[in-house]
Amino acid sequence: MTDLPTPSTKKPVPGQLTFAAPRRGKPPQHLADFDEAGRKAAVEALGHKGFRAKQLSTHYFEHFVDDPAQMTDLPAAGRAELVEAMLPQLLTPVRSLNADDGRTVKQVWRLFDGALVESVLMRYPGRVTMCISSQAGCGMNCPFCATGQEGLTRNLTTAEIVGQVVAGARMLREGAVAGGDDESRETPLRVSNVVFMGMGEALANYRQAINAIHRLVDPAPAGLGMSARHLTMSTVGLVPAIDKLAAEGIPVTLALSLHAPDDELRNELVPINTRWTVDEALDAAYRYYETTGRRVSIEYALIKDMNDHAWRADLLGQKLRARGKGWVHVNPIPLNPTPGSKWTASRKGVEQQFVERLRAHGIPTTIRDTRGSDIDGACGQLAASTA
Ligand code: SAH
Repeated sequence: MTDLPTPSTKKPVPGQLTFAAPRRGKPPQHLADFDEAGRKAAVEALGHKGFRAKQLSTHYFEHFVDDPAQMTDLPAAGRAELVEAMLPQLLTPVRSLNADDGRTVKQVWRLFDGALVESVLMRYPGRVTMCISSQAGCGMNCPFCATGQEGLTRNLTTAEIVGQVVAGARMLREGAVAGGDDESRETPLRVSNVVFMGMGEALANYRQAINAIHRLVDPAPAGLGMSARHLTMSTVGLVPAIDKLAAEGIPVTLALSLHAPDDELRNELVPINTRWTVDEALDAAYRYYETTGRRVSIEYALIKDMNDHAWRADLLGQKLRARGKGWVHVNPIPLNPTPGSKWTASRKGVEQQFVERLRAHGIPTTIRDTRGSDIDGACGQLAASTA
């Protein structure tokens, strides 16, 4: 393989927020960057008939094929060049790690400029969830999150985001993912759910993230034809972007990474809280529910003796209940300790008490399972390093 440059990122100091990604070269354009009209124009600009765009889209979004040899419906003359121009390889597999008897697969990808990102595929009975990255690194600097410690390398393009899902779909199609009981033996086996819970703050890469959502929900062959309800956008709470997302008219599920119900602690755990407070973030989440009708998830990584106190469960329960009923549920996540972290997960009894307190306030609460923690593939552990 050719030697690619290793991107260097300055590590952020505690509390530092980074919104603008350092300037870097742009990845080559790809069919998945464009909507249907854009694809037609791009193909025509290459000197081909516009309808070739639809054929290429069918190969990519329906058959997950990007090898010109398999595209026998395209004329042999100029085929390789057309495919190279419209479907360049953006994600080069570096490593693939299995857990849960092969039902969880973490993939590490190298991008054109050497940046590394990760995605995780999780097969459950009756559904397949992919956790994807929207940025290389992240600028939000949450101290308990592995990616946050890396700083922001750059935003991913639409096609780099979508390509992770297409790669997962291809693996499933090829039978490369274990699992499959009676329920999940549906044909064709597909990626049913996507969560923007990999590396990066997708709402800080807003345009590309929205375009990616379009590609995921657009009916084939324009896109993957997924249900918007099966997509989850997770955010630290960028309030204006949450409102913008609500107005897009695509009813994806919103997950708000709260992790503390009080500003004093949240300022430390989720530094964006110094811009938009707990109450402002919760109000935005509630507006999202009102506009879309979609029940919001609150994410809460339970950290021993940090945010797992009974009074914090009560305060969270009160703040959620004060805004209404049936609009929200809470997903406590046992902290996945990151290397060098001084924090650990809450004790099981404390975790249970936290859940019960929330439920006593009428708030549906379910502990998030932590698939893939042994391959550093669980929540907050994604931190691709070149080491
Ligand atoms: N930027 C988005 C996506 C981040 S990852 C966001 O912040 O929501 C998805 C979830 O995993 C977030 O709730 C994040 O706070 C949480 N998370 C990060 N590090 C974690 C860790 N070490 N253990 C458990 N959850 C973690």
